Amino acid sequence: TEVPNVRLNNGVEIPQLGFGVYQIEPEETVEAVSHALRTGYRHIDTAQMYRNEKEVGQAIAESGIDRADIFVTTKLANDKHDFDAALAAFDQSLADLRLDRVDLFLIHWPLPTVGDGNYVETWKALERIYTDGRARSIGVSNFQPHHLRKLHADAGIRPAVNQIELHPYLTQDELRAFDADHEIATEAWSPIAQGAVLSDPTILELARTYGKTPAQVVLRWHLQLGNIVFPKSVTPGRVRENFDIFDFEISTGDLGLISALNKSERIGPDPDTFD
Ligand code: NAD
Repeated sequence: TEVPNVRLNNGVEIPQLGFGVYQIEPEETVEAVSHALRTGYRHIDTAQMYRNEKEVGQAIAESGIDRADIFVTTKLANDKHDFDAALAAFDQSLADLRLDRVDLFLIHWPLPTVGDGNYVETWKALERIYTDGRARSIGVSNFQPHHLRKLHADAGIRPAVNQIELHPYLTQDELRAFDADHEIATEAWSPIAQGAVLSDPTILELARTYGKTPAQVVLRWHLQLGNIVFPKSVTPGRVRENFDIFDFEISTGDLGLISALNKSERIGPDPDTFD
């Protein structure tokens, strides 16, 4: 299977389909990531707050796959926003992941309640890391347009991606358009809404039409919209299923039917209040 790449605004290529490890227990992570790599996934999305970077690092080291062939993302913990704390936390991530650089490092949440535009200072630490060559690209997560405008006003380096909650019940049309207008790639977290969209009658009907599973239909919808996705599962059959989405094409009309399921309904926190 050839997973297409998305070219980021600095020329770095990221596989459009990856494997997310949020809520995978450390004891389960080596096996889960190893299985994903055996299945063909070459993009792993972790975070300091997931507490499984060490196990991700172990699975990568033991895989025997060339480091250059695996795209690794991690994210700054919410309690490490201060400049020096961010640099130290990043050092710890590299040590835990057993890497000398990551492919993408993100500010996990804007935390606007911590202080007005505090993330602009945090971004300076990410710029330093990028300039030092220890992250091939840097970006943000859970940023709204007003956060991005504030960041852009001060940033020397523009974020390459914005990772946001995005699925058929929260299609984020405005934010996706804002990202696109500013050459920011959109990554969709909880791409299948942690399973909530899989029993939707429209999705079930389309799954029958295309002879694929509900998860495959929803993930394919993301890819055709241009979103980068990394569904999570610890069940080997589902990990394979979520990777097997390159042998069919959803029609433009059916893409529209899925997008019309939008209810602007979050399953996760609101970035404007979450601290
Ligand atoms: P997801 O939408 O990927 O759903 C995962 C859940 O869906 C699984 O636990 C399982 O119960 C079910 N599932 C998975 N594949 C299935 C299949 N084929 N059939 C039926 N059920 C299936 O949700 P997620 O884990 O929240 O999001 C994916 C990744 O996004 C995370 O692992 C993490 O890397 C990232 N994420 C980032 C943020 C952020 O704030 N930046 C927040 C949440 C998640």
